[in-house]
Amino acid sequence: MNYFINVILPIPLQKLFTYKITEAEATFLSKGMRVAVEFGKSKVYTALVYKIHNEPPIGYEAKDIHQILDETPIVNEFQLKHWEWIANYYMCSLGEVYRAAMPSAFLLESETEIKLVQSFSNEEILSSDEFLIFEALQHQSRLSIQQIIEILGKKSIFPIIKRLIEKNVITVKEQIYEQYKPKLIKYIHLKEEWSTDSKLNDLLESLSRAKKQRDVVLTYFQLKATKKPIEVSQLQKKSNCSTAVIKSLIDKGVFEYYFIQTDRINFTGNSSEIKELTEHQQIAYTTIKENFKTKQTVLLKGITSSGKTEIYVKLIKALLKNNKQVLYLLPEIALTTQLIERLQYYFGEYLSVFHSKYSMNERVEVWNNVIANKQKAQLILGARSSLFLPFSSLELIIVDEEHEPSFKQYDPAPRYHARDASIVLAKMHSAKVLLGSATPSIESYYNAQQGKYGFVELNRRFGNVLLPEIELVNIKEKHRKKRMKGHFSDRLIEMITEAIENKEQVILFQNRRGYAPIVECDTCGVSPQCPQCDVSLTFHSYKKELRCHYCGYRQSMLHNCSACGSEKLNTKGFGTEQIEIELEELFPTAKIGRMDLDTTRGKYGYQKILGKFQAQEIDVLVGTQMLSKGLDFANVSLVGILNADNMLNFPDFRAHERSYQLMVQVSGRAGRVKKRGKVAIQTFNPFHQILQQVSTNSYEEMYKEQLDERWQYHYPPFFRLIKITLRHKDFNRVDEAANWLGKSLTAIFKENVLGPSIPSISRIRNYYIRTLIVKIPQKHSLIVTKKNILRVKNTFQAIKEFRSIRFNIDVDNY
Ligand code: ADP
Ligand code: ZN
Ligand code: ZN
Repeated sequence: MNYFINVILPIPLQKLFTYKITEAEATFLSKGMRVAVEFGKSKVYTALVYKIHNEPPIGYEAKDIHQILDETPIVNEFQLKHWEWIANYYMCSLGEVYRAAMPSAFLLESETEIKLVQSFSNEEILSSDEFLIFEALQHQSRLSIQQIIEILGKKSIFPIIKRLIEKNVITVKEQIYEQYKPKLIKYIHLKEEWSTDSKLNDLLESLSRAKKQRDVVLTYFQLKATKKPIEVSQLQKKSNCSTAVIKSLIDKGVFEYYFIQTDRINFTGNSSEIKELTEHQQIAYTTIKENFKTKQTVLLKGITSSGKTEIYVKLIKALLKNNKQVLYLLPEIALTTQLIERLQYYFGEYLSVFHSKYSMNERVEVWNNVIANKQKAQLILGARSSLFLPFSSLELIIVDEEHEPSFKQYDPAPRYHARDASIVLAKMHSAKVLLGSATPSIESYYNAQQGKYGFVELNRRFGNVLLPEIELVNIKEKHRKKRMKGHFSDRLIEMITEAIENKEQVILFQNRRGYAPIVECDTCGVSPQCPQCDVSLTFHSYKKELRCHYCGYRQSMLHNCSACGSEKLNTKGFGTEQIEIELEELFPTAKIGRMDLDTTRGKYGYQKILGKFQAQEIDVLVGTQMLSKGLDFANVSLVGILNADNMLNFPDFRAHERSYQLMVQVSGRAGRVKKRGKVAIQTFNPFHQILQQVSTNSYEEMYKEQLDERWQYHYPPFFRLIKITLRHKDFNRVDEAANWLGKSLTAIFKENVLGPSIPSISRIRNYYIRTLIVKIPQKHSLIVTKKNILRVKNTFQAIKEFRSIRFNIDVDNY
């Protein structure tokens, strides 16, 4: 009998691949285990076993596998089913989902490069093979898998690499963030041979002239009485001796070192009593539970600072006691900082955090803990990728700030929406989903109105603090009356002054980073452009640089216009950096902070700034939309929005919905617990309906108006959108291809095709871009539509001239 396996390879090809295995391997292997296989021109990949069977493949000779990488499955049935749904729904390959789902350490391949973890120094724990690699990395900053094969003189090196990763010696090349806490703690114990009383007496006798060493031994016994492992550092401190003294005892063979693996991240909370819910919160809580009896998904619409988090906490508490797993999804890492503290306080020993700013080794640890259903990974707090963890007894998924656009992954595939994908995941586990937001997305609110989701509302802030008072400041008029200083109206300056005098804090929101979006020549009007993209460069004054926010290109600021040579270069528009500088001039004694992509790099980037703000070391914090998300500061009494107009005018069918959400959310940071806060929104157009709705807190009205427009212009939730993006370096070719595609799609979908269109940024990294949108009416079958699109795609890719064009499909592009 012949044995074969079908495997998933982490590549964009649609199908599975078959390899040959022995009978013994067939008995050992099971679905969800990894094997190393050769694919293509002697490239080695980490593949995932999908099926074990006896059917030889048709049309090619199955190759043998290289080796087996796991002893037990590291991916479970729930995950595979969920991945299949994602691949199908979002029109990508299972391999692409596999690649996105796994921490990169699990996906070694021949091109992977390995590097040293700088803090590692416990060479004692390495086997000889492992040490050889460690040593090679002392001389060379990076090693490829091929080089490692050569160094060790053998082919089966993946298990060695796996162990080195687990011991935190190496990491695969990717962006590494600040390292902290070593994983291995060095312990010490007395060698076995000294353990009898008489031996011990001999020992102390022999040390009678080495007083310090004798002290160390005696201290050791004191510590030993606690019956806990003794850390070297602990012994050294307690006996007040130098490293040399301990070292000499080791050399004499009295003590020896050993290591215990501890997870790098341990939240040891004190399981404090959770807060007692207020009457209104309690009603919301019981209504949610009531709703869950009949609905899988419930939308909780609770105004900012109504205590949604406290309600989540109470729901979670009940589940953790019963060994269930809970996933708490957040739209952005910025938010986790504060929430970790809050949740850690209640659920320390149950809590693990998972997101892209964690090092690869840490992510592997969380993965392993979830698959083992360990207590410390029962509650996962994470960004969208934590959806892919190997849950087996998931009971509840909380999607906090469910309206946030960052739940959608745009690139690379799978282009999934974490909220929608989590509802499907929950179904597979028979788990519940709670969507929470003060400003629900139009889709979710619509689903709740239609009865598809349960719906619970919470309209009172904790402590009955009123929602902030919102004032629209007409800066058109202020400009005319010369009441502006830079970008600040006299009214905003007055309000900031008052807040600072009252020792209260201020948040200022400006949705652009950098100093000024555009540099423009006063003489000829030309602005410096990115050489690779179709955008103007942004001026960053701190480094005197021009940068492209699309491709990362940077150059130093010009002294003359490159078109006419004039020295009169001026800046237009403004970003966070400029606001920060103006503030420093307007309020020379206030402490100013800035939070945007530029100031929050690194693992602790957010933490540092938010920590300072929390500790009131910053009076005025300027930031981008990062600031809008669920942050909870007690002392903020004023929020200022410097310019509401640029977001309202954004060319997107969601611009109004998004502006409403953003402004209400940012405003919600003001006056959360003590007294009613204030918000100033500067605008050229105070009568804009969205601004009126924001200032009167009229979600319903906004919803109805937007829904009407969506109906009229055929947008979600009435139509689904599938967006196709074509990219190529040759302008003419992509243009021709887009026209061809437009014709072919229109032949099938008629008036439901939009485009081909040239996006407002029509070239990025030297690739010219064209987009097409297919709109699908609710009553049309999504499956049939997708089949048709894929058929067109196949024909497209069969045309020789089009083959090199990048063809991306994005389902539910919203
Ligand atoms: P939301 O998530 O709705 O914006 P939070 O859960 O952050 O609101 O609550 C706002 C603030 O009020 C937080 O500081 C929180 O600790 C406090 N709070 C809310 N509910 C209670 C309660 N029942 N008891 C004590 N404090 C509460
Ligand atoms: Zn010029
Ligand atoms: Zn660029």
